[in-house]
Amino acid sequence: MGLQAHAYDVTLVSARTAGEIRDGHVLSTQAMFGPAQTIEREAGLNLWDAQVPAVRAMRATLIDPPGTASVAITGRLRHPQRSVDQRVKLSGWLELFEQRGGRVEYRSVDRAGLGGLARRHELTIVAAGRAELSGIFPRDPARSPFDRPQRTLACLYLRGVASPPDPAETHVRIPMVPGVGEVLLQPALTTSGPCTILLWEAVPGGPFDCWQDRPSPHDNLERSLALLREFAPWEHDLCEKAEPTDANATLYGAVDPVVRRPVARLDDGVSVLGMGDTVVVNDPVTGQGANSAARCADVYRRAILARGERPFDDSWMHETFEEFWAYARHATAFTTAMLGPLPPHMARVLGTAAVREEVADRFAEVYADPSGARWFLDPAEADAYLEAIGARP
Ligand SMILES: Cc1cc2nc3c(=O)[nH]c(=O)nc-3n(C[C@H](O)[C@H](O)[C@H](O)COP(=O)(O)OP(=O)(O)OC[C@H]3O[C@@H](n4cnc5c(N)ncnc54)[C@H](O)[C@@H]3O)c2cc1C
Repeated sequence: MGLQAHAYDVTLVSARTAGEIRDGHVLSTQAMFGPAQTIEREAGLNLWDAQVPAVRAMRATLIDPPGTASVAITGRLRHPQRSVDQRVKLSGWLELFEQRGGRVEYRSVDRAGLGGLARRHELTIVAAGRAELSGIFPRDPARSPFDRPQRTLACLYLRGVASPPDPAETHVRIPMVPGVGEVLLQPALTTSGPCTILLWEAVPGGPFDCWQDRPSPHDNLERSLALLREFAPWEHDLCEKAEPTDANATLYGAVDPVVRRPVARLDDGVSVLGMGDTVVVNDPVTGQGANSAARCADVYRRAILARGERPFDDSWMHETFEEFWAYARHATAFTTAMLGPLPPHMARVLGTAAVREEVADRFAEVYADPSGARWFLDPAEADAYLEAIGARP
């Protein structure tokens, strides 16, 4: 839509229609932080700001032993985080693109079809998410942090989750159980109005990893309540009277964190450029994917405009991706750190964040913009920071 606004002749190819997306299964928890929302707002795409809950803080609770909150960190966000169900958002944007005169071809593209498209267009970008088509871009082993998923995932959209009595501000709540996984409770807007999304991030083989049978929304709720009763009983009490938002309110699977080479050369020599999850995938535990995809779209849009009449050749594609990677590598580094056992310097920072508000607030901002996270990720910088604020143990 950014290119459409500049009178570029854009063809979108989408495997699913707006109606199919809206009526389909949930896709994500899709929390967007301030900087990514700014990109969307500047493009006139923030169509749901009046209805979507504004999430002003993040509360991470360390649970050890099960059922006991040993440490809680509440970081206030400088700009509210918002989650609009991608079923609402992507279908709304597709319709808007068409209303503005955009051309959409509704079909699934394979490698051969992509070649046909690429021959007919000056530039072809593949934004197929983690779908099979992403396989045309080879994995980049030097940049890929893992060779397999680090969590199995189960997601459930709920209405009727009660608000915690304290504090009054809307929070995303993240109970974390070392070695077992995390559960995120994310206020959001879905097809039927406000909701709370429950996302289980399960360490494979542990007690949260119990979703292989892909239960129905009601069975998921029953199992979720049993897990919450054992591990985070205060969240169980808030969810006890909730019900699934709709028949498609669940999502199961696992995300394979991978970075791919951004340019794929097709059989007849034409090249295509990968975008968003097609080339950089992170586990959703830190909520970076959709935020990074928005950044990627913004970087590519600006690079296309700046290119003018010159050709979109392979070296332009590589340079354009590198500009995105200069940001995305931080999202990958932050997510990688949060998936493993916390190294001592990060544990020291989070221990301080539990008792010092300014540290908790600074930690919350890492989610919004991980490119400034060296003070947390780097051992020497973390200790220097703690020393500077008089918190060195
Ligand atoms: C459980 C879960 C929770 C998440 N939570 C968050 C979060 O809180 N915050 C965050 O920032 N990110 C989150 N993410 C990640 C986020 O959802 C993705 O990073 C983001 O949607 C990627 O956007 P994209 O446009 O690259 O791909 P997608 O959103 O996957 O879109 C790809 C599109 O391409 C279409 N398509 C696929 N193949 C073809 C084909 N062959 N032909 C034509 N069309 C095709 C698909 O139908 C789809 O519409 C989460 C992910 C998961 C799984």
